[in-house]
Amino acid sequence: MLTSIAGRSVIVTGASKGIGKGIARVFAKQGAKVLVVARTLADAEACAEELGGGASAFAADVADWDQSQAMAAAAVECNGGIDILCANAGVYPQTNIEDMDPAEWDLVLGTNLRGNFLSVKACLPALKASDQGRVVLTSSITGPVTGFPGWSHYGASKSGQLGFMRTACIELAKHNITVNAVLPGNIITEGLEGLGDDYLGTMAASIPLKKLGVVEDIGNAALFLASKEANYITGQTIIVDGGQILPESLEALE
Ligand code: NAP
Repeated sequence: MLTSIAGRSVIVTGASKGIGKGIARVFAKQGAKVLVVARTLADAEACAEELGGGASAFAADVADWDQSQAMAAAAVECNGGIDILCANAGVYPQTNIEDMDPAEWDLVLGTNLRGNFLSVKACLPALKASDQGRVVLTSSITGPVTGFPGWSHYGASKSGQLGFMRTACIELAKHNITVNAVLPGNIITEGLEGLGDDYLGTMAASIPLKKLGVVEDIGNAALFLASKEANYITGQTIIVDGGQILPESLEALE
């Protein structure tokens, strides 16, 4: 049982749907004051209402510096500071390199990588003021460990997050702030559910635990990294993928 989250001020970016919503739900259940951030205010508000308690909503594009600063200011105003930043917002359009418009590359790197940098930079003054500052990035197995057709930009952004993390954790250590990352495998989200049972069944068959993850699996890993109990862990990754990256061949899955 992790006991150190109640009353903490938490920002979760990309929290109106999918994994971010799962992270927000896990923190809210532990009594944290969660700021739900997404570009679409109505979705962020609906999520905050569903979470209840101390949750509130804010609309911001994490790729925009002014909006990132406004997000951090809103958390300080609503919740009295920022203890934990879960930088989770991300996009993953799927396009082969040959067909990819350079603007799509910029969108993915801008949201997933520049977005992490801007969120951390904007929250830094408040995180420094916390006695237990925590940054948890949502990366992916795609890029850091695996590749997938159509996701060259996405994989580059997700690997880039880890390069960013390894220097950020050293720079921020003197402020007692830890920076870690969760690397999800295939997690069931609203978007993935829409792909149908055949697709989900094929995906599950490639995973040793024979099932896709749920958003709370990522939320629980983020919760641990944000807890007091994880205070000596920084610059590290936790892969949450049901063993997906391990099989050498189909034979290993029989
Ligand atoms: P999702 O269901 O598509 O939700 C994305 C969330 O991010 C939404 O709340 C969206 O709301 C918000 N968002 C998108 N662009 C944003 C921006 N520029 N600024 C602020 N918010 C933004 O995505 P997901 O599948 O949960 O993925 C979440 C994270 O997990 C991503 O970083 C992704 O790379 C990572 N991940 C997912 C999986 C998976 O299996 N699902 C696997 C590995 C890693 P608005 O559109 O309203 O802004």
